[in-house]
Amino acid sequence: MKHAVIMAGGKGTRLASITRGEVPKPMVPVLGKPLLWYQTQQLKRYGFTRITMVVGYLREKIREYFGDGSRFGLTIDYIEEKEPLGTAGAFSLLREKVPEPCFLLVFGDLVFDFDMNRMEKVFLDRDADVLLIAHPNAHPFDSDLLKTAPDGRVTAFDSKHNVRNYWYDNCVNAGIYFLKREMLSLVPAPVKTDFEKDLLAPMVERGGRIYAYCSPEYVKDVGTVERIRAAEQDLLRGLPGRKNLEKKQRAVFLDRDGVINRLNGFVKRPEEFELLPGVSRALGLLNSSEYLSIVATNQPVVARGEADFSDLDEIFRKMKTLLGREGVYVDDVFFCPHHPDRGFPGERPELKIDCDCRKPKTGMLLRAAEKYNIDLAASWVIGDATTDIECGRRGGCHTCLVRTGLAGTDGKYDAAPEIIAEDLPDAVRKILGRP
Ligand SMILES: [Zn+2]
Repeated sequence: MKHAVIMAGGKGTRLASITRGEVPKPMVPVLGKPLLWYQTQQLKRYGFTRITMVVGYLREKIREYFGDGSRFGLTIDYIEEKEPLGTAGAFSLLREKVPEPCFLLVFGDLVFDFDMNRMEKVFLDRDADVLLIAHPNAHPFDSDLLKTAPDGRVTAFDSKHNVRNYWYDNCVNAGIYFLKREMLSLVPAPVKTDFEKDLLAPMVERGGRIYAYCSPEYVKDVGTVERIRAAEQDLLRGLPGRKNLEKKQRAVFLDRDGVINRLNGFVKRPEEFELLPGVSRALGLLNSSEYLSIVATNQPVVARGEADFSDLDEIFRKMKTLLGREGVYVDDVFFCPHHPDRGFPGERPELKIDCDCRKPKTGMLLRAAEKYNIDLAASWVIGDATTDIECGRRGGCHTCLVRTGLAGTDGKYDAAPEIIAEDLPDAVRKILGRP
């Protein structure tokens, strides 16, 4: 049996104009139904029919509505907090309620629709102690962020109170976790405990197996009236369901150099990376569309020995920081570090291979398609080189050449783009404007 725990003790101070002190935050009406109702429906859909709710403020309102869950085809029980214990203070009490070796933990102020089977598989494959959903947001500069290794392992929690005089990833904890039952033993008695600060952060420092599951699916905190109204609009147009990775997704694959940033020879250091004008506006349009925005770029500088992987990571972090300052993001980054021709001083022979990912080969498109269930035939490749257009053609995507960067003058392939645009904003406008 699958077991979920919902932290439903919130008061919802910022929702007072809707709740009027009569219902707790998790019962706030969303299109006429309590927020918790949406959560339980999603959980049930994926077989999480045993649910424990940790309740506090106005808990009788929650118990009155859900009872033992039988009315909804669920088995629901409760832990009552007489005083608020923070996000993990009830862990010791949960030990008696959760017999299963692992469970799903959800915060009660979220609207979500994500493929729980897909996430559970990653949790099991990684043999993680904790797997948490992470995603970019529109204000990373004042958010708590996660630092992760390339395999997704969380290496640090970066508090929003830190002075960030460095480039950072736009990677935010969304408030949904798979975790092993053993985690509950970390809180021996009911005392006020913060899950992230008091449990996860020290675990990361001890080398615990905490992983981020980066997902573009719909997981939104609706702790303010404005966010509730936005979520209602999204639900009315069916957006959360369409973003679920069970459904085929559409993507715009973006080349980097000459499309996102000024072509400056090869970019080998963060100082050489400079956004082109209008790029954040273009990404803003993509972020509010239903296309994923995915960078797919050849970076032979690594194979040629001109930069190493950490330089490359730092350049991408600069890109994400600059975009984040403008309130926009890319959903993922794929790069090919290989190069087939030998003969550069300082080159790295192990990367001097004829790989399957260097554009115009389609390895990066195929990996992204697998990871996010993307329909390549409904997706676009935008680039400044004929190599990009040829890659898109081979991948079965729509193609768009921009007149920035190389503007197609590389002349390596005789591939005709479907659209020619002045720059990235023009390209995005044209793509989104198509029927
Ligand atoms: Zn490659």
